[in-house]
Amino acid sequence: MLGPRLRAILGRMTGSSGRFWAERSAADERDRMVERQLRHRGIVDERVLAAMLVVPREAFVDPAQRALAYADEALPIPSGQTISQPYIVARMTELLGVGPRDRVLEIGTGSGYQAAILAEMGCRVTTIERHAELADGARARLAELGYSDRIEVRVGDGSVGDPGGAPWRGILVAAAAPSIPDALREQLDPAGGRLVLPVGPRDHQDLIVVTRNGNDWLERNDGPVAFVPLVGEGGFPG
Ligand code: SAH
Repeated sequence: MLGPRLRAILGRMTGSSGRFWAERSAADERDRMVERQLRHRGIVDERVLAAMLVVPREAFVDPAQRALAYADEALPIPSGQTISQPYIVARMTELLGVGPRDRVLEIGTGSGYQAAILAEMGCRVTTIERHAELADGARARLAELGYSDRIEVRVGDGSVGDPGGAPWRGILVAAAAPSIPDALREQLDPAGGRLVLPVGPRDHQDLIVVTRNGNDWLERNDGPVAFVPLVGEGGFPG
């Protein structure tokens, strides 16, 4: 018979070793994701790859979807929204071209995963979500993971950006806009600020990168993507 003290010690040991193995296997899955889905497909920014290697994506998906946390696909989150495919998160982050201490605006917080990747790269992030349920969930999750000091989560219509926080070094829109909102162009840092967003009809879009230099806005197309709609004043009607 084990005494209560020994049982408590054993319980703690097996409990923590269970966690140890779960964390180990998630780390292995992240390694594989970074190699096969990102590096192999042409993501080259080492800072982006390093961030994707450490942020625990399983903490951002529904518990019922944990087995798919590192799968090569978008996954459903509450309010009928999605957490983007890992490759798309990496590609948008790479295209944004931001680094330590840059101030970044994200529109469409969703699960908070993209915001965590930006924070992990050293950015200071303001992220806006129109569904309070998602914003609350993301805020709690990001606090638990220790990102609160670098990420502010707000509820509201982000399609008009956040003029009070402008100029932004980077603006990343994680939902599809029918056209590039003028408000977002205007809020970019004139010295090379970048806006990355999907533009097009509701069912298919192109990933567009806008770089501002003074009063010139250079646009380029990074190829086809499919996102949930940006709903609001600068997006689609609700
Ligand atoms: N970046 C997220 C994925 C978000 S999916 C992640 O890493 O999980 C896109 C999100 O944009 C959805 O949560 C949707 O509710 C939100 N959204 C759509 N229109 C919006 C708007 N006008 N303002 C703020 N958020 C918006």
